Amino acid sequence: MAAGIRLYVDGPLGDGGAVAATADQAHYLGRVMRLGIGDPVLLFNGRDGEWRADIQQIDKRAAQLAVLEKTRDQDEAPGPWLAFAPVKKTGTDFIVQKATELGASRLLPVTTANTQTGRANTERLRAQAVEAAEQCERLSVPEVSDMTALEALLADWPRDRPLFALDETGGGAPLAATAKASGEAVGFLVGPEGGFQARELDRFAKLPFVIPVTLGPRILRAETACLAALSVWQAVVGDWT
Ligand code: SAH
Repeated sequence: MAAGIRLYVDGPLGDGGAVAATADQAHYLGRVMRLGIGDPVLLFNGRDGEWRADIQQIDKRAAQLAVLEKTRDQDEAPGPWLAFAPVKKTGTDFIVQKATELGASRLLPVTTANTQTGRANTERLRAQAVEAAEQCERLSVPEVSDMTALEALLADWPRDRPLFALDETGGGAPLAATAKASGEAVGFLVGPEGGFQARELDRFAKLPFVIPVTLGPRILRAETACLAALSVWQAVVGDWT
């Protein structure tokens, strides 16, 4: 059981290295998982692959881990970006967790005209992403951006990265075929519970890097649309292929 515990760490990982666990990690290892000196854990930092380490010292607030050997190389494919209008708190947490499992490489909360939630707690969302990455055996944690307004997101969006706007009005092209023709560096934009306003859809139509796409005739909850879009992408372009 202990070998299955994976922790994300900030610092470098390499032969003969040592890592100081955070207080939360020490609590998790010692109190929650009941591990002690000599027990193994796996560490990753998004850069150096995955490493086996063992616990050298542990108390309530701190733990020292000795880095022993590399278990996996850092060879993860960079996944798509996901821009989404936050829904209520549990829904947003759900999107962050599941998008992490589905391989998104960057998460960008965005406010649109009909967005109900005015703010997103970036630190909380980062913590959700870290936890999901630890559990799903990813080698990286998606970057979580601070919440931005839709107009700023569009202004800053890299022009060479197609942005698939999930259009619930049926105006877009089918996602699978469109994704297949668009390479790997892409992003998705999913609207809020209230959907996109007509003027937002008009704006998308004027921007050459925005590609409206549809997920069929049923109106999906925003959470479902995020997961469906990432799943389709992984199946036709990503690492499910
Ligand atoms: N209240 C809106 C629905 C919004 S659904 C209405 O009743 O029309 C929330 C978001 O999920 C949408 O803005 C869109 O980005 C995405 N979405 C939901 N269903 C979709 C579909 N069939 N195709 C593409 N996007 C969809």
